[in-house]
Amino acid sequence: MEKTDVLIVGGSAAGLMAGLTVKRRHPQKTVTMVRKASRTPVPCGIPYIYGTLKAVEKNLIPDDNFIKQGIRMHTQAVESVDRGNKTADLADGTRIAYDKLIIATGSSPAMPPIPGLQTGNVFGIKKEPEYLDMIQKALESSRNVVVIGGGFIGVEMAEQIALMAQAGNDAGAVQVSLIEMLPNCLMLACEQEFCSDAESELRSLGVNVMTNTQVKAIQGNGKVTGVQLASGETIPADAVVVGIGVTPNIELAQQIGLEADPRMGIKVDAYMRTEDPDIFAAGDCASKFSFFDGQPTCIRLASVACSEGMIAASNLYAPVRKCMGAVGAFGTTVGKNSIGAAGLTTKAADDASIPYVVGEAVFPNRHPGGLPGCILDMKAKLLFHSETGKIIGGHVRGGEATADMVNIVAAAIQGGLTAEDLATMQYATHPLMTASPLGYHVMLAAENASAKLTGSRAA
Ligand SMILES: Cc1cc2nc3c(=O)[nH]c(=O)nc-3n(C[C@H](O)[C@H](O)[C@H](O)COP(=O)(O)OP(=O)(O)OC[C@H]3O[C@@H](n4cnc5c(N)ncnc54)[C@H](O)[C@@H]3O)c2cc1C
Repeated sequence: MEKTDVLIVGGSAAGLMAGLTVKRRHPQKTVTMVRKASRTPVPCGIPYIYGTLKAVEKNLIPDDNFIKQGIRMHTQAVESVDRGNKTADLADGTRIAYDKLIIATGSSPAMPPIPGLQTGNVFGIKKEPEYLDMIQKALESSRNVVVIGGGFIGVEMAEQIALMAQAGNDAGAVQVSLIEMLPNCLMLACEQEFCSDAESELRSLGVNVMTNTQVKAIQGNGKVTGVQLASGETIPADAVVVGIGVTPNIELAQQIGLEADPRMGIKVDAYMRTEDPDIFAAGDCASKFSFFDGQPTCIRLASVACSEGMIAASNLYAPVRKCMGAVGAFGTTVGKNSIGAAGLTTKAADDASIPYVVGEAVFPNRHPGGLPGCILDMKAKLLFHSETGKIIGGHVRGGEATADMVNIVAAAIQGGLTAEDLATMQYATHPLMTASPLGYHVMLAAENASAKLTGSRAA
């Protein structure tokens, strides 16, 4: 029987970060990581396999870096855990005795109860290299591709499949359709105007974007031939990609008697502890709560998974780090547009009856604006609570700096900064990298909101 101080089940974002954190904080502890997948794809890089990288092999996280840190690795499924004896059994018969266990089993693609979804060439997006390779082969020989779901996974997949089609031998002969049942793509995370920008970019790449549209059934005999819509229309399809979200992998936790919900995940507290003092859970498989109201949330992102993996690993021997709750910070690029969001949208704030003021800034992302590659209308839209003045959301559209600007917003939300704090923040500017100091987006949008907040208080 093998022995390890810390056993980690799962070798993707949460598991890897947990392993590295244990080694950093407790270098004397032995760490063993067991993962089912033969190799670990960069999860967020999956869409880029198809239109940009053009090979699954180019989107893999090398194991070497982790082995060099002293982490032992097994590529096997963990089939069972004996909590009393603190041992885990792998599919190949190996038994591992552990002191602490971190479950980081992640998530699987959610497959809605649409008739025909099991038909050939209909794919969820499993984070397994062999499966991703199969998707690539199917896409390469398809003339009509339908992507179901206009969240960030579906949008990125549709964009990359369109690019793949443009680069193919019979460019123009491939039709990509994106079907979203809500009024806009990306609308659960982004402001409406930014969603519309993303849709325009997709259309300019030739994607047939269909919003307010519901799928009724998948047609085909053995292999998909079409997607039938609730309107009665049928869209021809040789391949279908389903990107409508994920469900947490809770089977192992359930099997060993830990509390877990099929939608919310394995129940953990703010220290990522399950009800068993020696078992932690982190990442997509674990339950989450919102930073804003402490209520359960389904925000599942690699950045959240890494943070939770770090928190779980930090707390193995004493509770030293607490999760503050999910803010929900994300970024994506669609065609020439980068869009990012952190925290609440105006719709989410309205739905929750949270009073807010909006500050906006539209300014070139370089200075002077005539510099090559300058985006003249980079935009930041920030939301501040009208009573406390604290930032509760931020939305950015522009160039590469978008994600880092959103990260500033996320940190400001976590830190409870106000419009006044951000209006008077100090920041770095450079002609090639940022807006002019006169118009640095976060500062300017905060100043805009601060003036409204002060005005409303003075009035
Ligand atoms: C197409 C796509 C694009 C995405 N883009 C982004 C993005 O741009 N930004 C972002 O923040 N997030 C993105 N995400 C979300 C992100 O991928 C997930 O939040 C992240 O992968 C979660 O990491 P995880 O470690 O919790 O789980 P997973 O990545 O799901 O990994 C689970 C691990 O557990 C292993 N495992 C499962 N069961 C067992 C078992 N019984 N025994 C052993 N091993 C087991 C698996 O083999 C795997 O190693 C994207 C997701 C997809 C699908």
